[in-house]
Amino acid sequence: MKISALTIFPEYFSPLELSLIGKASKSGLVNFEILDLREFASGVHRSVDDTPYGGGAGMVMRPDVWGEAIDNFATNESATVIDLVILTPSGRRFTQRDAQELSESEAILFACGRYEGIDARVEAHYRKDERFRVHALSLGDFVLNGGEVAALAMIEAITRLIPGVIGNPSSLLEESHVSEGFLEYPVYTKPPIWRDLEVPDVLLSGNHAAIAKWRGEKSAQDR
Ligand code: SAM
Repeated sequence: MKISALTIFPEYFSPLELSLIGKASKSGLVNFEILDLREFASGVHRSVDDTPYGGGAGMVMRPDVWGEAIDNFATNESATVIDLVILTPSGRRFTQRDAQELSESEAILFACGRYEGIDARVEAHYRKDERFRVHALSLGDFVLNGGEVAALAMIEAITRLIPGVIGNPSSLLEESHVSEGFLEYPVYTKPPIWRDLEVPDVLLSGNHAAIAKWRGEKSAQDR
């Protein structure tokens, strides 16, 4: 699978070299490609933004620069369909189901906005292009300075679902949000007593049926 991002701050993506995601990249399970949006801007200053039509505060990212960058990406991409994720706080909230669906994609391109966001015609244009599946997604109901942190969070959620990335795939089956509304049971490790707080007896009993029953009861009910 290939996961790409278009950004004016490519350095933001250096954490992709770390931990399990970094290993997945080194072993070829996923191929990351971080592209600098400014390379597709013209002029001495390689400006990617301009003042908003209708007035108002801030700057808006230019559709011509984004169009050039996305078209160039598509020309060099062999996948028949490209999942284009446009990051925006006004998009649909990203869920585990999106992570699952996108983990089966051949090629994902994250469009990381900055300033007041990306000119709305970019989303409208690529929604009409059959090569693209466009997803306008939000990380949550808050506003970040740019899409990079949102893209990183989504990339981690997606990548860990690619077969082979997590050492023990059975750990993915019981996780929170694996199905609508499911939250994992509370977990404990050694020592058995910590600051007067004891591990529930059932977990020390060795009775697997009783443990499974307890975990079933505790899932989703404690929060
Ligand atoms: N003016 C926009 C609004 O009020 O909806 C906010 C723009 S925000 C300062 C700049 C960029 O950060 C957005 O274009 C988007 O790419 C990214 N961003 C901010 N919050 C986000 C969120 N909750 N989820 C995803 N991306 C977000």
